[in-house]
Amino acid sequence: MDRLRSLFLPAWCHALLCVLLACFLLMNAASGQPPAGTAALNAEQAQAEAARFLSELVRIDTQDPPGNESKVAHYLEGVLREAGIDAELLEPVPGRASIVARLKGDGSRSPVLLMAHEDVVPVDRARWTVDPFAATERDGVLYGRGASDDKAMLAANLEVILQLKRMQVPLARDVIFLAEASEETSSPAGMSTIVQRYWDKLNCEFALNEGGGSLLENGRVKYMAVATSEKLPRGAKLEATGSSGHGSVPRIDNAVVHLAAAVAKAGTWETPARLNETTREFFQRLASISPPEEAAWYRDVLNPQVQEQLKVKKPQYYSMLRTSVVPTMLSGGIKSNVIPPSAEATLDIRALPDEDLAKFREMLAQVINDPQVKVVAEDTTYSMPAAPVSHLHTEMFDALERAQKEVAPDSITLPIMTTGATDSSFLRARGVQAYGIGVPKTEEESRTVHGNDERIEIKQLGLFVRYEFAAVVGVASRK
Ligand SMILES: [Zn+2]
Repeated sequence: MDRLRSLFLPAWCHALLCVLLACFLLMNAASGQPPAGTAALNAEQAQAEAARFLSELVRIDTQDPPGNESKVAHYLEGVLREAGIDAELLEPVPGRASIVARLKGDGSRSPVLLMAHEDVVPVDRARWTVDPFAATERDGVLYGRGASDDKAMLAANLEVILQLKRMQVPLARDVIFLAEASEETSSPAGMSTIVQRYWDKLNCEFALNEGGGSLLENGRVKYMAVATSEKLPRGAKLEATGSSGHGSVPRIDNAVVHLAAAVAKAGTWETPARLNETTREFFQRLASISPPEEAAWYRDVLNPQVQEQLKVKKPQYYSMLRTSVVPTMLSGGIKSNVIPPSAEATLDIRALPDEDLAKFREMLAQVINDPQVKVVAEDTTYSMPAAPVSHLHTEMFDALERAQKEVAPDSITLPIMTTGATDSSFLRARGVQAYGIGVPKTEEESRTVHGNDERIEIKQLGLFVRYEFAAVVGVASRK
């Protein structure tokens, strides 16, 4: 500016220009209004508003069962309408509505979908230190059932679509908002029906959903995990039969004995381990931020000796490498002195995305190797479908990595395959590239999900909104 003055402008004119420029900058800083179409966001206002949405959502009790998700759908409808966004309730089961809304792009690219579920798991009130439906705030931390799973994502999605609308970000892609019912328990109100009946309202190229998770350590984001796939829950039953009789006379075909032996074999079976595109990249990147001993494991993760270590010390990673078989329930018998004619065990089987399950059950039957014990597949009418892995090299994944560099520049992106299941599989099964993301949490906060005193740091919710907003603008705005 000094050089400019000396060349072109009288001193008074330069002073006036400086004042005008300063006013312009101040006004922009105060209003938070960026030039239309850029990713700048009034961070403070967005965080406060998202936190308000989250509190209001937590106060609506949607424990599933029974769900009562229509209460949340009506709340969301009100907020969206007020912002000038039309929304539509999808209610295949009365009282259990999902809701969908859309910001139109110019139609030149395929849509992006932001989704989150409305229902929450039940609470064991006696074990909470606060009312789980009061949305209590303590030292910047918000407590309540759903504060993390999944009303944080829901509040963030709502905030992102409202900001896109208010800032009039020019969009190449439609941005679709979906809040769905019945994620925590499969039922006709959930995604299986929604995608079957209303696919035209959801059809998209990319989706962002729950399922990722970012690790917070000493107040800093260590990594942000982006879930590109998940294991497929496909339970099975072991049914043992034998002859019944008096408990005073041992029988070699006792169904309880045969079942117990079968459960032990199934539960200790070392199922085959293998990597896919996501887990290979995951372990490589994880090695780069791990202490030396662990880093060595992650670089040689299929080594049987490493597997032994993981089984004991990192069961989560052990599970990411294989289809897992975990016995969870036992039943049989009616009285202590009666040998029952049958007994039954439930297995929680979580399959790798490419597993051939019929073949896998045959292998399990061979491991059990007992003609008195049958392996029976569970009914999967409303279950999550088998789905392919979403790719690491897409515009959406790139946009997420770029967004992360903006909000948490010292952290890395970790592509993960989750061992749990989300509604993303319904989208992936239809060819959508769906990614799971999540609000940064400490390990301790993560353990409260589905547990007691579920909570989230409001500052991290704010960071997550900025992250998601930047990613959506990155992939959906007109270049
Ligand atoms: Zn969830």
